[in-house]
Amino acid sequence: MTLDAFWERERAWGFYPLLEAPRDAPEDYALEVALVKRVLECWNIDPAFRDAWARNPQRALEDRQIALQAADVAPLLASEPVPEATDPILKAVYQGRDLPDQPQAVRRYCAHLREKLHWRQAHRRANQPTDPRMAAWWERQVARLSGQMHADKADAIVHTPVSFELSEGCSVGCWFCALASEPLQDRIWRATPEHRVLWRSVLQQLKERIGPAVGNAFCYWATEPFDNPDYEVFLQDFQQVLGRVPQSTTARPTATIERTRALLRLSEGHGVLNRFSILSRDIAQQVHAAFSARELLLTELLPQNRDANPKFRKARAGRILESANPALTQTPTTIACVSGFLINLWAQRIQLITPCPASAVYPKGYQVLDEALFTTAEDFGLMIECLISKHMLRFPPLDAPVRLRPDVRIECPDASHLLFRALAKRVTLANQPHSHQLAELLEAGANTPAAIAEAREQAVGIDCQDSLFLINHLFDLGLFEETH
Ligand code: SF4
Repeated sequence: MTLDAFWERERAWGFYPLLEAPRDAPEDYALEVALVKRVLECWNIDPAFRDAWARNPQRALEDRQIALQAADVAPLLASEPVPEATDPILKAVYQGRDLPDQPQAVRRYCAHLREKLHWRQAHRRANQPTDPRMAAWWERQVARLSGQMHADKADAIVHTPVSFELSEGCSVGCWFCALASEPLQDRIWRATPEHRVLWRSVLQQLKERIGPAVGNAFCYWATEPFDNPDYEVFLQDFQQVLGRVPQSTTARPTATIERTRALLRLSEGHGVLNRFSILSRDIAQQVHAAFSARELLLTELLPQNRDANPKFRKARAGRILESANPALTQTPTTIACVSGFLINLWAQRIQLITPCPASAVYPKGYQVLDEALFTTAEDFGLMIECLISKHMLRFPPLDAPVRLRPDVRIECPDASHLLFRALAKRVTLANQPHSHQLAELLEAGANTPAAIAEAREQAVGIDCQDSLFLINHLFDLGLFEETH
């Protein structure tokens, strides 16, 4: 749905944008949504609040200074975790429906959730690079991942084409770190005049090559943004070159309250959705004491504490890949959301990465397809071009074997159909005479496109161009391994 059509519908129902421009909601409207959000934060992070609510809901709200009536938010608080697929309110949100029978506060909050889903879809579309080779490669990664993970997980991955690290390692050391970050050890890239010249050149070169999607990049990965005392200086340069303020996620929101508040103010006018990673109930209480609900309207609090609502499962990846903890996801997943370049400025390193389900082979939930080092701005541009031309092929080479991904199975339902089956996707090809032969040629993993085309022509008289077109189509669907 286009932005205009989405907002035409939402405004007709009486709702306003809070995240997307023009953010013209009346103040009492924004405050009500912020208060509902705060109730849910208390509910999801703090078992003491859940107990207090069970005893006396209104009193529980008053104790947290939340000026709402309990009946206005009660429909959102299920006493037992309900799977998302069967939660009627969430189901309506995902289906883009209003809930006219619910209290106003619930309806407005659900409208905000719909806005966030809509924003995420638009954000993902906007992440497609402009370089045609990288755009095709990026589309293949999106298509591949949508077959490897169920839709609820795959749709949440936005495939940002670039992210940056402004230090090496992380000072926080979370027990669940899905990216298995290293200790920080003072490896921080400071904003010296020379570094800022290089930084701005890196941003400018990426903007010219990849396009406006670089503005969706963020400046952390297996790092904590506030570990770098100059983080905000780099954000200002980013804003000047790319016209956007990058999103931030911090696990240290209370380390220096005024620093955090300044970051929120910088983000607010740009509709940036920041995130606080909440590691304990104490931190949640400090956050709630330091920041009003209204101040945090566009800041998500991620319940990462051990006693959080059990429906918030952590990704089984990185440091906890082998853990038997039942609070971890049971199905294949990842938290990695970059299909493109992960650039560490401290190490002056570029990695070409793309998400995949975390496994023993890819414990951090992403593949590193290649890596290059740079020392100067000129080097940087050359390395980016080198990685694009080496890995982002527009078509599979005629003389290199094509191999199906290991997770793709191929079947022949009858003599003229082929079925490709992965965990979360099936692709059917019709009108393939002697389909068993084609299946065998593809399954072997040792045949080049040229050899397959020739074999098909000899066996069933199919024009070579038609076979090559078919192989390119399967390549575009992300069904082949790209890097052997
Ligand atoms: S989860 Fe984030 S904050 Fe925690 S150790 Fe990993 S990188 Fe650091």
